[in-house]
This record gives sequence, C-alpha cells and structure tokens, in this order.
Amino acid sequence: MAQVAAYHRPQDLDGAIELLARPGRTALAGGTVLNADREPPAIEVVDLQAIGLDGIEPAGPDRVRLGAMVTLDRVAGGADGLIPGWLADLARAELPSTLRTLATVGGTVAAGGGESALLVGLLAADAAVEVADRSTAAAAAAAGGGRPLADVLASGLAPGSIVTAVTVDVAGTGAVATTGRTPADVPIVAAVAVVSADASTRLALGGVASQPVLADPADPTARLDPPGDFRGSADYRRHLAEVLSARALEAAHG
Ligand SMILES: Cc1cc2nc3c(=O)[nH]c(=O)nc-3n(C[C@H](O)[C@H](O)[C@H](O)COP(=O)(O)OP(=O)(O)OC[C@H]3O[C@@H](n4cnc5c(N)ncnc54)[C@H](O)[C@@H]3O)c2cc1C
Repeated sequence: MAQVAAYHRPQDLDGAIELLARPGRTALAGGTVLNADREPPAIEVVDLQAIGLDGIEPAGPDRVRLGAMVTLDRVAGGADGLIPGWLADLARAELPSTLRTLATVGGTVAAGGGESALLVGLLAADAAVEVADRSTAAAAAAAGGGRPLADVLASGLAPGSIVTAVTVDVAGTGAVATTGRTPADVPIVAAVAVVSADASTRLALGGVASQPVLADPADPTARLDPPGDFRGSADYRRHLAEVLSARALEAAHG
C-alpha cells in the first residue's frame, strides 16, 4: 500500500485544481496504481470521486465523451450502446472485474501504460483528452475539444493538471488483433484499426514502443524499433506488428 500522509476530497473541479496546485499532492482516481505503490515517500492524495467527472454522453453525431472518473467496468458495459463493442471488449480485457470497477478512464490515460491495449484502442478511436489546471478553466478545456491522446502520451501531463474527460470517435468500424502468451494475458503486441465514417483509416499499435503509437496503415512497421524483453524479442514484436496490423485492417474494412 502507498503511504498516504493526507487525504483531500474536494467537492468540485476548482477545489481539486487548487489542492493539486500545491507541490507533493497526487490525484487519486480508482487507486489501482497508486494503492499498489510500495515506494516511499508518503504522498498527499486528492480524491477526484466527488467532483462530477463520471458522465458518459454523446459529443456530436460521431463522438462520445467519457468523464475521467468513468470506470473501465462501465466502458466494458457499453453504456447503453453509446460505446462500440470493440472498445467495450478492450476495456473488459484490460483488468479483472474487481479492478475494473475501480480503475478509471482518466487514470488509464494519466498512467500511460505501455502495455495497455485499451490505450491502443483509444488512440485508434481518435481520442482527445480534456485537461484542466490553474491556467485552464474547466469550461474552456471542454470547449476546446481536448489534446490528441498521442500528444498527451508523448509529452505527459503537466504537474497539477487533471484529466477531466476523453472524447472518442464511435462512428467508425473498429477491429482488434492481439497476441499474448495466453488469451487472458496482457497482449505482447496489440493492433487496433478503425475505419471512420469519412472512410479514413487509423491504426494504433501497442507493445512496439514504450507507449502505444499511431502507425501508418499503408506501412505499419515503418520506423518501428520495438524494445525486446522476456515476452518477445524486437524482431518477434515487429513481425507480430506486421501480421496483426494486416488482420485488424482487413477486419475493419470488412
Ligand atoms: C493487478 C493490476 C493489473 C493491471 N493490469 C494492467 C494492464 O493489463 N494494462 C494496463 O495498462 N494497466 C494495468 N494496470 C494499471 C492500472 O490498473 C491502470 O493504469 C488503471 O486504469 C489506472 O486507473 P486508476 O483510476 O486506478 O488510477 P490511479 O491509481 O488512481 O492513478 C494512477 C495515476 O494516474 C493519475 N491520475 C488518475 N486520474 C487522473 C486524472 N483524472 N487526472 C490526472 N491524473 C490522474 C494519478 O495521480 C496516478 O499518478 C494494472 C494494475 C493492477 C493493480
């Protein structure tokens, strides 16, 4: 368990932003990462559960807005048909049910897990991340449509900032192809392809870099330099990326 030196529970976003603006404080969402952290030093946590970031709503004709505190279990449940089946399946596969009821969309983005197949799916779904901090009023953050998830993964979040929501394209046809040591294990490589309503194609890959990346559908392995580890060498991962990209693209194009 993490050593928690102080616990704050703001009642609105402005309060959370003020609390997190002070050094040494950390946002607490589902706690699946934070509570598993055994490293000192003790942290002061700012619990985001009471500030109203748990909505799921349409955001225009083709997109859905997932509040940062929406749990992976709710995404896996499909939100009354708002979330496409392929994305719901990725959320279901991400964690066991006990942890899915805790882990959140915002926590998944902020943690930026290199092995997260759900993050690969969010990238392919053209995810935009709404972020609020002292310099950005919440309304302005939402109105601005958010930063591309690829940018957030590349540059990280500024200290004290809060992911408030993630919007995704839900009108496209998505397909997932993965290879893991077992069907339930974290994929060694994951490929997700989405053909959007305007017929453009997005392809995202996981397990080929320190974080999920967007790839060129016409040449998925161009410029890939995967790290090798005990689950797969660099060459094996590059080979998987080629094969799984082809499968995902073929399935997404129907
Ligand atoms: C047993 C186990 C298995 C796991 N398996 C996987 C896996 O297969 N794939 C994978 O990718 N991950 C895995 N994880 C990691 C983790 O479950 C996910 O990254 C999870 O989605 C984190 O969400 P959370 O809400 O629990 O985040 P928390 O633990 O609450 O927070 C994680 C980090 O994100 C920050 N944060 C959270 N919410 C926000 C926000 N709204 N704005 C700004 N910062 C925020 C926190 O400050 C903290 O630094 C696993 C974890 C455990 C314990």
